[in-house]
Amino acid sequence: MESSTRISVAIRMRPILKEEVDQGQTNSKVFIDSAEKAIVVSSIDQKQQKKFLFDSVFDEITPQNELFNSTQIPELLKKVVQGFNATIFAYGQTGSGKTYTMEGYDYNDLKPNIKVKPNQENEKQGVVPRAIKALFEEIKSMPSTTEYTVYCTYLQVYQEKIYDLLNPAQLKPGSPGLKMRWSKHDEFYVENLYVNACYNATEVLTHFHAGLKNKIMASHNLNSASSRSHCILSLNIEGVDVEGGGIISSKLQLVDLAGSERASLTGNEGLALKESIEINKSLFTLRQVITTLAGSREGESAFVPYRDSKLTSLLKQSIGGNSFCLMIACLCPCDQFYEENLSTLAYATKAS
Ligand code: ADP
Ligand code: MG
Repeated sequence: MESSTRISVAIRMRPILKEEVDQGQTNSKVFIDSAEKAIVVSSIDQKQQKKFLFDSVFDEITPQNELFNSTQIPELLKKVVQGFNATIFAYGQTGSGKTYTMEGYDYNDLKPNIKVKPNQENEKQGVVPRAIKALFEEIKSMPSTTEYTVYCTYLQVYQEKIYDLLNPAQLKPGSPGLKMRWSKHDEFYVENLYVNACYNATEVLTHFHAGLKNKIMASHNLNSASSRSHCILSLNIEGVDVEGGGIISSKLQLVDLAGSERASLTGNEGLALKESIEINKSLFTLRQVITTLAGSREGESAFVPYRDSKLTSLLKQSIGGNSFCLMIACLCPCDQFYEENLSTLAYATKAS
């Protein structure tokens, strides 16, 4: 049944960066109204205003912990431990703050060596490390007769090919990528993907950090800047009731999507153009999937085009059916990106 996905949408605007201030860039058209949970956008001539309403909106000074706690994320993690599937993804143009929101690590700090220790507290930490920790806190609060194992995978989809971020050998130049298969249980899976069984947050964080390092390495090898690929950290949560014998099985996917900017704006040619087309195809399919899920009512089963892209095939299990989904759409606070911001808001509106 594809009918009961609950989709929430949060909007976050990042601060103006120092180099943008130096270039004299300003924001005169896109405003956050936190009280009304609205984004107010002025027309180009500033004579009219349009209001977009969402489940939550966050301005440029919202710290990472507030974003985490004021969205549906804590509730969604509770659901995951109870056996529901969930997806959290960040959407927006390159430079809008998706990776900051999801990972929160400063990329410059990660080159060439990650200095972040797995259990280091860091206010900059994004949704992923916070969710990993909170997930295990939730697990701890469950009856002790249920034993949980969290299986983690971390992959990258680049030009409709799947690469394992936890397997450096697989990220070498010329790698054909991994094959996706369709299983009897009505789901897609990736062949030969590294799966790590974890029993605490530190173990998952260690794999996640290893994947981040590999991602940086791969962005040199495969000539794919991370902005052109989708990264998916998947956590399969299995809980076995050692007394009653019952089994809980659920999936949480945390996704940093490729930049949503349109090819025409970036003046792409050749490989870059091909990349843009593939990115736009998967983001377009994701939009169709979400629109269908958001629009279909209880009991109806509309056709959902998961198979049209690798991204949506991989997300099927945690986005369709009885799932909880949070989209965090990221905005840039510069007039220069007015059109892109509008397009992000339009995409986000389709989902809510
Ligand atoms: P994206 O992943 O969407 O391409 P990034 O996450 O890399 O964008 O963000 C672009 C830049 O803006 C980075 O330098 C990042 O550190 C900074 N940034 C993004 N969001 C925030 C925020 N909420 N607070 C402070 N800096 C941010
Ligand atoms: Mg990024």
